[in-house]
Amino acid sequence: MAYVKQWAENEKLNKTEIAKLEKDGLKIIDDIPYYAENGFDSIPKEQWDLFKWAGLYLQRPKEDGYFMMRVNVPSGILTKPQVETLAGIAKDYGRGVFDITTRQAIQFHWLEIQQIPDIFKRLEAVGLSSAGACGDITRTIVGNPITGLDPDELFDTSAIVKEVYDYFQRNEDFSNLPRKYKLSISTNLKNASNAEINCASFTPAVKVIDGVEKKGFHLKVGGGLSARPYLAQTVDAFIDPERTLEVAIAVTTIFRDYGYREKRHLARLKFLIADWGVEKFKEKLEEFTGPLPSKGEEPVEEWNAGYFYGVHDQKQEGLKFLGFNVPVGRLDAEEVFELARISGKYGNGEIRTCNSQNLIIPNVPAEMVDELLAEPIFERVTINPNSFMGHAVSCTGIEYCNLALVETKERMRHVALELDNRIELDVPVRMHMVGCPNSCGQRQIADIGLQGMKVRNKEKQMIEAYEIYVGGTLNAGGQFNEKLKGKIPAEELNDVLVNLLQYFKAEKNAGESFFDF
Ligand code: SF4
Repeated sequence: MAYVKQWAENEKLNKTEIAKLEKDGLKIIDDIPYYAENGFDSIPKEQWDLFKWAGLYLQRPKEDGYFMMRVNVPSGILTKPQVETLAGIAKDYGRGVFDITTRQAIQFHWLEIQQIPDIFKRLEAVGLSSAGACGDITRTIVGNPITGLDPDELFDTSAIVKEVYDYFQRNEDFSNLPRKYKLSISTNLKNASNAEINCASFTPAVKVIDGVEKKGFHLKVGGGLSARPYLAQTVDAFIDPERTLEVAIAVTTIFRDYGYREKRHLARLKFLIADWGVEKFKEKLEEFTGPLPSKGEEPVEEWNAGYFYGVHDQKQEGLKFLGFNVPVGRLDAEEVFELARISGKYGNGEIRTCNSQNLIIPNVPAEMVDELLAEPIFERVTINPNSFMGHAVSCTGIEYCNLALVETKERMRHVALELDNRIELDVPVRMHMVGCPNSCGQRQIADIGLQGMKVRNKEKQMIEAYEIYVGGTLNAGGQFNEKLKGKIPAEELNDVLVNLLQYFKAEKNAGESFFDF
């Protein structure tokens, strides 16, 4: 190890911390060929958790030995060979299931240990990796999914995201963080990267320095969801884009060396920032970076929640990018192959993924847009979805997730279908469903958040139910949604939501959103 683990002397380290000191999480990647050769039963139970560092979780029930794999997609940018490789993995090993996550990554299910070496080989051949996609490590870096095409972004951030991502990939100096660690880097003026809910975010900023207007970043730190959500706060600093990696390393070093390691539920960077405040954090940051200029102006206009439906002009004249809905973020492998073919025929082969679990096909010449849209797949994966289906987000849920209490994806899809049949509104309502108090589906920032739980019915049987939360947004500084009274049994959920939305429709002014209401 190139660095001193100063926290290792702390007697109050939790059990996971002690295990991480005994074996670095990334080392599991070296063990996988042995386990693949010898089968699932050769993996000691105490090693199961370390598979997260390889981007692998055991899906439910763990004893069956099937893995979920998350693949990093920095900024959500995928080339045609990458899309085809991912589709091939889903088809050959993942029973065809291809999920887009709320951090632009791709998830597979049903993988067996014997298959992992070949999957790693296929990913590596096209420059993809699942290393660090889970675990107490820097996760995939969220970015502007239209960077490089975006007529309004301050500057192209694709190379910066790649530089920062490459630095942290399989870097054992930063593979033992106190908890998961999420970065975003974007200069999209509609906050497409959901800056405030990341541990640390680089966001668009301008500042006049020596009479010259400079474009760069502000730094927000300490955001995160789960049971105790926090919005990231802005550090009083202006960051030259050329110093992004240096600052990212400094922030990560502070988290690694000063983050809390006694109680896992209090270990995220957000808790350190909540205790220190951003002023103290800046002082510590400057011990690594030297003095940083104070912050400038933030040109962010509004929040688009990562939605890009429709046909849009790119900054390159004559080219368009098209935003499509992927219902609850799930495609099958054949659809992904088809999208790769189409993106190659009409665009440059790229596909981009969004935080909203949707996708973008860029670089389509204007005169080819109609022909592209006539392809049959775009009857389901549409640029103009029905309102509720088009704004329905869901986590993995009980189908595969060990922590889940309830079904999510299919239920969210059914809820959206029914609401589209029964209610018409003049504004979209973003609805996010999660299967437990964790927040993979980012329930807290939804107009309507639905959080699953188990309750007893009158007959004392355990049934699936949901709490309803309303009014979340990242507009105007951001606010998390608030819980309504009661727990709604799954079978009553649709009717309760219809009543709630009918009330909203009757009482609101024209154009008024859930946040304004
Ligand atoms: Fe699983 Fe909970 Fe995350 Fe949903 S929010 S995927 S149920 S851990």
